[in-house]
Amino acid sequence: MRESRAVRAALAAATDDRIFFDLEGIEAQHATLVRELPGIQVRFAMKACPVDEVLDCLARQGAGFDAASPNEIEQAVRTGVPLDRIHYGNTIKSDENIADAYRMGIRDFATDSVEDVAAIARLAPGSRVFCRLATSGDGALWGLSQKFGCSAEDAVRVLEAARDAGLTPSGLSVHVGSQQMTSEAWQSALDELAGLVAVLNGRGILLGTINLGGGLPALGCLDKHGRPLDPPLDKIFAVLREGMQRLSEESAVPLEFLMEPGRHLVADHGAIRARVSRLSARRQRDGERQHWLYLSCGKFNGLYEMDELQYRLEFPGHAGGRYVPAVIAGPTCDSDDAYDYEAGLVQVPEDAASGDPVWVHSCGAYAVGYTTQGFNGFDPLPYTCIGGSR
Ligand SMILES: *Cc1c(COP(=O)(O)O)cnc(C)c1O
Repeated sequence: MRESRAVRAALAAATDDRIFFDLEGIEAQHATLVRELPGIQVRFAMKACPVDEVLDCLARQGAGFDAASPNEIEQAVRTGVPLDRIHYGNTIKSDENIADAYRMGIRDFATDSVEDVAAIARLAPGSRVFCRLATSGDGALWGLSQKFGCSAEDAVRVLEAARDAGLTPSGLSVHVGSQQMTSEAWQSALDELAGLVAVLNGRGILLGTINLGGGLPALGCLDKHGRPLDPPLDKIFAVLREGMQRLSEESAVPLEFLMEPGRHLVADHGAIRARVSRLSARRQRDGERQHWLYLSCGKFNGLYEMDELQYRLEFPGHAGGRYVPAVIAGPTCDSDDAYDYEAGLVQVPEDAASGDPVWVHSCGAYAVGYTTQGFNGFDPLPYTCIGGSR
C-alpha cells in the first residue's frame, strides 16, 4: 500500500500541512472493484470523502452516490451524474429531509421502518424504497449495528407497507460493518438476503435490486496494537461473487446489484503531510518514563480514527538514527486525540524535532468529513488532488 511516486513527490515538496488525494489511485481502486465483482454498480458513500474532485473522478468512472442528507444530495448532483444514480441511503430522515430530496429529483430511498415508509409515501409519493436489513456487525472495526436496519420479518412488513402506500418496494440492503475483516460476515448477510428474497417473492413482492452496502476494507492501516490489518479481500470477493450468483438464481425476476463502498475506494489513496509538534519524555504517575510524539494533526483534523487504529507514519530525513517507542497524539487539549496508548506504542526517531515533517499514510477515508471547525484553534487541513484522467 505504498503511494504512487506522484504522491510521494507531493508529500516531499509540501511546505505546509496538507492532505493529498491520489485520483489515479482512486480510479484504479474503482476499476479493480468492478472487475472483481462483474455487474456491480458502485454508489460511493460520500461521507468517506466528500471532496468535489474525488466525487467528479468517481462519477467519470461511472459510479453514482450514496447520499445521507439533502446537502450530500446537492453535492452529488453537482457532479452531473444522472439522478437515478443517486440514492438517499440514510434510514434516518426528517419530513423536511424527505421533501427536500424529492424536490431535488431523488426517487430512491433507504428505509427500515413503517414510520419512515409512511413519511416517504406522503412526501415523496411514488418513489422506490429499499429496506435495510440489520446485521450483527461482528468482524468489523465499526459495527454499525443497532442504529440501522430491521429484522427479516420486519423487512416483509416494511416492504408490504410501502407497496400498500403506493411506493415501489425496489430492493434490500445490508451493511456488514465498516472495515469488515471477515468473509463470514458477508456470507451470513448473503444467506439472509437469499432467504428473504424467496419469502418476498412468495408474497408477490418482486425486488429488482440488492444493495450490498459498504464495509469493504482498506488495506494499508494497522490495528490499535500496530499489527497490519490484513483482511482476506480475495476471499471476500469470491464470497460476494458466489452470493450474487445464488441470489440471482433464487430471485423470480432479474436482479441488479449495487454496492456502497466508502473506505475501500479512498483510504489507501490519501496521505497527510504533517509535522512534529514535540517529542517529549515524561515520567507518568506509575513512575514509568513515557515518550509522547505530538503531531500537528490528529483526531480533529484528519486522523479521526486514530483511537481505533494506527495510521502508518513515515519520518523522512530520519533514516539512519535511533528510534524510541512512543505514544502518538494530536495537538489538541483532548485526551481522545491520541492512539490507544494501552494498546500499542510506535517507534519514532529519538531526535524528532519540532517542525520535522511526518507523512501519514492510508488516511484518505473519513478524514475531511470528520474534521472539526478549528477545535482548539487548529485549522482543518487544506487538500490537494493529484493526477486522474479527465
Ligand atoms: C458509511 C456507509 C457506507 C460506507 O461504509 P464503508 O465502511 O466506508 O464502506 C455505506 N453505506 C451506508 C449506508 C453508510 O452509512
